[in-house]
Amino acid sequence: MSATIIDGKASAAKLREKIAAYAAELKAAHGLQPGLATVLVGNDPASEVYVRNKGKTAEALGFRSVHIALPADTPQNELLATVRQLSADKTVHGILVQLPLPKHLDEAAVLDALDPAKDVDALTPTNAGLLLSGRAHLVSCTPAGVMLLLQEYVGDIAGKEVLVIGRSLLFGKPAAQLLLAANATVTMAHSRSKDLPMLARRADILVAAIGKPGFVKADWIKPGAVVIDVGINRIDAGDGKTRLVGDVDYDAAKEVAGAITPVPGGVGAMTIVCLMQNTLIAACAQNNLPLPTGL
Ligand code: NAP
Repeated sequence: MSATIIDGKASAAKLREKIAAYAAELKAAHGLQPGLATVLVGNDPASEVYVRNKGKTAEALGFRSVHIALPADTPQNELLATVRQLSADKTVHGILVQLPLPKHLDEAAVLDALDPAKDVDALTPTNAGLLLSGRAHLVSCTPAGVMLLLQEYVGDIAGKEVLVIGRSLLFGKPAAQLLLAANATVTMAHSRSKDLPMLARRADILVAAIGKPGFVKADWIKPGAVVIDVGINRIDAGDGKTRLVGDVDYDAAKEVAGAITPVPGGVGAMTIVCLMQNTLIAACAQNNLPLPTGL
């Protein structure tokens, strides 16, 4: 039997509506408009599209959106000054510096200049540490989106065997912490792991965040398992065009899995909405208002 397709687009649309309604209430009751600032250094076309979409989504939800575009050769001290200025600006509640940065810039120094209260990507050491301590209110957007999809499609994941393939700061590490906090039994795999197919076959929930098209094969998947495909890879579609695919061999995997996220339309659809949720949370926290819960 073919797997249930996890509809990230539909879940994202529901969350979007709730965020817009909450933002409208916040404005009416407290005169507070959440503000998101995006910073892009250089003109990588994919990053330009991502940043534009973030700005558009923010505006559609009634947020204030500020975009700062800096040339590719921006010196380190200028970028740090921009980030510090935004950190001090009371009308900006969330700051997103689009990564990766051009090679001459030091990402760690940029994150150190960012006020953790405005770190809506949750990449600063402060927010990573708060997540580890179970006290974070700003959680990395893609892992947060994955947890919402699991909540909706699986429910309680206590005691489930979960394999997360990939250990990036942006996804794998925070995802593993959130899964652990939800009482799953979590295994993390990476490029040095031995016998990935064997590890994968144990998993009730298999999460792939590798960045390699079709890397996870159908015969790695335990029949009926939930497959969460985080990968976004652009490949040649053969007709002079390109198309997006995930890290899982989707067509074959959906015949074995119990449920699976498509690419596009799965995890990716949730990420941007979770960024908006973080901006809303950050705005409330910075104004000593109760944090929105159960959105
Ligand atoms: P990343 O920083 O490049 O990390 C990739 C991870 O995969 C690393 O931990 C690496 O292991 C592991 N890996 C690489 N080759 C492997 C192999 N042969 N076997 C096992 N593990 C292997 O990537 P990322 O930022 O986490 O992103 C991963 C994918 O998710 C990308 O396609 C990215 O575009 C996508 N993504 C999507 C969203 C979204 O919104 N949907 C958000 C973030 C990322 P090592 O640590 O040992 O090198």
